[in-house]
Amino acid sequence: MNTSLIAGGIALLLAIGLVVGLGVLSLLSGAFHFLFARPKLQILKTLHGANGFAFAFTWNAAREPVKFDTIRFRLFNPFGKVTQVDISKEFPAADDNFALDLELGKAYGEFLKADGFDKATVMIELVSTKDNVTHQFEMKGADFSRKMIDAKLSAGEFERGTAKAASKPLYQTVERTFIAEPLPATNKVLKVATNPQFAEFFGGSGGGAAKDEAPKENFSIAKVWIEPGCIVCNACEDIYPEVFEVTADTCLIRPGAPLDDGLRVQEAAEACPVEVIKFSA
Ligand code: SF4
Repeated sequence: MNTSLIAGGIALLLAIGLVVGLGVLSLLSGAFHFLFARPKLQILKTLHGANGFAFAFTWNAAREPVKFDTIRFRLFNPFGKVTQVDISKEFPAADDNFALDLELGKAYGEFLKADGFDKATVMIELVSTKDNVTHQFEMKGADFSRKMIDAKLSAGEFERGTAKAASKPLYQTVERTFIAEPLPATNKVLKVATNPQFAEFFGGSGGGAAKDEAPKENFSIAKVWIEPGCIVCNACEDIYPEVFEVTADTCLIRPGAPLDDGLRVQEAAEACPVEVIKFSA
C-alpha cells in the first residue's frame, strides 16, 4: 500500500481521536458542574422568631458573576386553605456566597401556618433583578419545615465558618542601611510643636499636648457599623483590631466587639479615609 495513504489514514484517525477526546472532556466538565458546582441553598437557624428565615446561598461566582438581591417564597397549595402565597424580600446585593437572616413579616408567619402546608409545594427563588437571573429550589412543605427545625447554624456562624482568610496587602520595601558618623553631643533641643518640652507654646497643636489640657474622657458606645464604600485600606483594623476586621472586599465589625472604648472607635472613624465608620453613643 502506498505509504502516503497509510500516513493520511493515521492522521485522520488521530484527528477523530482528538475531536472525540475533546467532546468527552466537555461532557465530563458539564457533568462535574451539574453534580458539584450547582448553586446551593442551605436553610439556617433564624434568630428572628416565627417571621424569620435564615439561609446561605452558595454558587460559582466566577462562572456566574451576578449580584443576587431578592428572595421570593411561593407556596402552591391546591388542596389547602390558602392555595397560593407569594412573598418577596430584597436584601443588599451580594456577588459571592453569602448567608442572611431576614425578618419577613407577618405574611411569612401565615405562609408557614397555611392549612395543608406539609403537602404543598414550596418554591424558593434567589433572584438577581439587575442581571435577570433566578435560581429556583423546590421542596415539599414538610421538607421545608423539617429543614428549618433541623438547622443548627445561624447565618453569623455560617459566615464565620466559611470566612475566607483576608488577604492582606504585602508591601515590599527595599532595605537600605546608612552608616554615618555619630552627631557631636549637644544640649540643644528643637523648639517645635512636636517636642513635648515646648507643648505649652503651641497650645496643644501638633504632637505635643498642652500641659494644662485635660485628658479626654473615654466613653462607651451603643453601636458601631460600616456603611457601604469601604476601600479596604486597613486603617481601622490597625487602630482597633478587636473591633474591626478588614476582609478581601469590605470591613466587618467583629461579633461581640468591645464597645467600652469609644475614644479608640472614634480614632478609627476619624482615620477612615472614606468616612464609612459610624457609631452611636
Ligand atoms: S478605615 Fe475605612 S476604608 Fe479603611 S478599611 Fe476601615 S472602614 Fe474600610
